[in-house]
Amino acid sequence: MNYRHQYHAGNFADVWKHALLLPIIRGLQRKEKGFLFLDTHAGRGKYDLRQSLRGDSLERKPEFPDGIGRLWREENLPGAIGEYVWLVKDFNARFGGGSDAAEFYPGSPWLAQMSLREQDRLAACELHEEEFAALKYEFEYEKRASVHPLDGYKAIRAMLPPMEKRALVLIDPPYEAQNEFAQLTDAVLEGLRRMPAATFVVWYPLTERARSDAFLATFAEAGMPPSLVAEVAIAGDGSSLKMRGCGLLVVNPPWKIQADLQPLVEYLGEKLQQQPGGGGRLRWLVPER
Ligand code: SAM
Repeated sequence: MNYRHQYHAGNFADVWKHALLLPIIRGLQRKEKGFLFLDTHAGRGKYDLRQSLRGDSLERKPEFPDGIGRLWREENLPGAIGEYVWLVKDFNARFGGGSDAAEFYPGSPWLAQMSLREQDRLAACELHEEEFAALKYEFEYEKRASVHPLDGYKAIRAMLPPMEKRALVLIDPPYEAQNEFAQLTDAVLEGLRRMPAATFVVWYPLTERARSDAFLATFAEAGMPPSLVAEVAIAGDGSSLKMRGCGLLVVNPPWKIQADLQPLVEYLGEKLQQQPGGGGRLRWLVPER
């Protein structure tokens, strides 16, 4: 496991994932009854963006200026994007970051924790020893949150169905393993067997290597419940960028959520462009019946 999210925190892919996750959380919260938010691949929780500005021995260009950096000074952000940026700014300020630029960025467990209600609950899994230690430290005094040094795929089996009988599962793996898509498809199928109405949100990259089209086709053929796909391409097809975009697959999305997501997909699709020819797109992979 070589992947460290630190170098990518706050980049376009994090913005896409986190800004769209928030209205999905709000969608589940339209019902009074609480739910479990299971973060299968949680990361360390808090990211110091100044570290990626300084770079490491490998000399890298920081990625967050083309992600959260592009929204930081924007006014009149549409709906849930305004709430997402507000939460990031609140988090940044909480850890002493200035208001001119993003210095501290919340990972998915923090974004979830900041948006959950009294009756909701967070369980976050992280397998990497150092990342888990940081996550444990972060959440030591948090109420209604637990952290686990567990394989996130196994946690789906172990934690579903939860006592709340409602669940939102975020699956955000590093795609280091060749068979990541197969593993996560099996995990979602197992999760749905245990809990047919659970909502799953799966992040995936758009790269040559990842073959996400084949994944989505296999996924749709596996007899899945209604599923939405929200993809962003930050450049056109012929681009030399290693990661040309990313997607979120939302299985069992909250009722009528596409109306909330559509304006965000359009806005971010344009805002996150790095080269001509990309854009955002929302579609049903498995339509509602
Ligand atoms: N979800 C986080 C966020 O949005 O802030 C970022 C997660 S990062 C893309 C993926 C994380 O999964 C890494 O921290 C990695 O150490 C961890 N990881 C890799 N394989 C895992 C597994 N099988 N179970 C749990 N965590 C795993």
